[in-house]
Amino acid sequence: MTEVATAPRTGDTQDTARINHWIDGRLVPGESGRSGPVYNPATGEVAAEVDFASAEEIDAAVAAAKAAFPAWRATSISRRAELFFRIRQLLDEHRDDIARILTREHGKVHSDALGEVARGLEVIEYSCGIPTLLKGEFSEQASTGIDVYSIRQPLGVVAGITPFNFPAMVPMWMWGPALACGNTFVLKPSEKDPSAALYVAELLKEAGLPDGVFNVLQGDKVAVDGLLGHPDVAAVSFVGSTPIAKYVYEKGTQAGKRVQALAGAKNHMIVLPDADVSMAADAAVSAGYGSAGERCMAVSVVVAVGEVADPLVEAISERAKKITVGDGSDASSEMGPLITGVHRDKVASYLDSGAEQGAKVVLDGRESAPEGNGFFLGVSLLDDVTPEMDAYRDEIFGPVLSVVRVDTYDEALTLVNENPWGNGTAIFTRDGGVARQFQFDAQAGMVGINVPIPVPVAWFSFGGWKASLFGDLHAYGPESVNFYTRGKVVTSRWPDPATSKVNLGFPQTR
Ligand code: NAD
Repeated sequence: MTEVATAPRTGDTQDTARINHWIDGRLVPGESGRSGPVYNPATGEVAAEVDFASAEEIDAAVAAAKAAFPAWRATSISRRAELFFRIRQLLDEHRDDIARILTREHGKVHSDALGEVARGLEVIEYSCGIPTLLKGEFSEQASTGIDVYSIRQPLGVVAGITPFNFPAMVPMWMWGPALACGNTFVLKPSEKDPSAALYVAELLKEAGLPDGVFNVLQGDKVAVDGLLGHPDVAAVSFVGSTPIAKYVYEKGTQAGKRVQALAGAKNHMIVLPDADVSMAADAAVSAGYGSAGERCMAVSVVVAVGEVADPLVEAISERAKKITVGDGSDASSEMGPLITGVHRDKVASYLDSGAEQGAKVVLDGRESAPEGNGFFLGVSLLDDVTPEMDAYRDEIFGPVLSVVRVDTYDEALTLVNENPWGNGTAIFTRDGGVARQFQFDAQAGMVGINVPIPVPVAWFSFGGWKASLFGDLHAYGPESVNFYTRGKVVTSRWPDPATSKVNLGFPQTR
């Protein structure tokens, strides 16, 4: 396999590595003259520069995908499935390499990066089942001598615009089902960690995917706007923050495209008084601080109901204090740095605003962050948080866990349902009846019962409610097949020409 030009270099005398586009099956150096820094968040050093696409480069990527579409959609479903098995095999063999790229540019610890690849691979495995997924329906003799059947056909060129926090998995949510359904694809990865996309592009080529079927366009807002306005892009899948998701949805649909835009979150984990405190604390710490809180399904708020609050806060604090924060490539690290210094400082600012607005700072991650220039913040815990505080109102997207204390289940439920976001939520209890009521009542797209991060398995679909999703269809699973295809219904008759006659009446079925 060709070496991807993404190796970080250190030392003052060397040029910075350049991260290019991938168009029509090869690396294409950017010529816009615009680029952005890609950091190693564990050291704070600029490891590479990523090209930012120009209008011409956007056109070239879409043109390559458009040219590849007729042959790809005509490729038999069996052949596409065969190719997907090979893609699955290669990704599996290279799990470790992909994970190392993720750690280098995103900062997440290696074991967590391996988990990301594993969850993405599940979607590729689901896509291997495309022959079954694209099976239509057939009614023989729907009317006398008439058969009716439904088929699903690909849309054409699909664009995927992805966030920094899952540089391998979220693109797989998109290109897996999109390509399996017969579309061609232009991926615009996050400019903060763009290398995994190129590595995967090389693997797809090695697996035998025809040139032009999968393209990577590096860039910023210019690339996004170019794709949203491009007449040859049929649909856009977006995952990222709520303001940009809303923008992408509105701009894309105004341009006549099918758009799904998955957005931000503020996930509440309710702990009832009958819950097992140790288990709930383990879950809150794992889901609150895993990947340094930079997960859209991270638990951001623990809602402690009644007398469980004191022992729960103590148990969370005891566990959180023991988390080892450090370079993600160091096997002893359990939590890595944040994505940039700017983001780290913004996350840390919620400790100050929380304290000013009346919360109790139980753990201040600035005091426990490793030394050096890496973008580190240690685990942080705020107690006595209330819904008016900034720490509650904003999606912090970092290792700051808030505890809100309430007296009843109903108050806890009101918090979940009145929150503008509705991605995931969880309840911890031993009472099956209350848990089932919560499943019925909760206004969120994904609900966990004694499960803190209820990311659905690949044969269900992933998506939130309210300000966590713009559009109708969720990502991966059965809804992705609907998103990446259009339905067509064929009504067919093979009459004897001798029986043919003109009839202006509305066709009747009997
Ligand atoms: P982001 O919205 O800043 O960026 C996402 C993508 O949009 C990137 O490719 C970026 O280049 C592009 N972009 C950024 N600003 C833009 C602009 N002004 N105009 C056009 N395009 C623009 O998000 P992020 O910081 O990379 O990712 C974190 C966010 O993503 C969090 O809010 C998190 O909750 C969310 N997220 C949601 C899900 C989900 O499934 N709901 C999954 C992962 C992440």
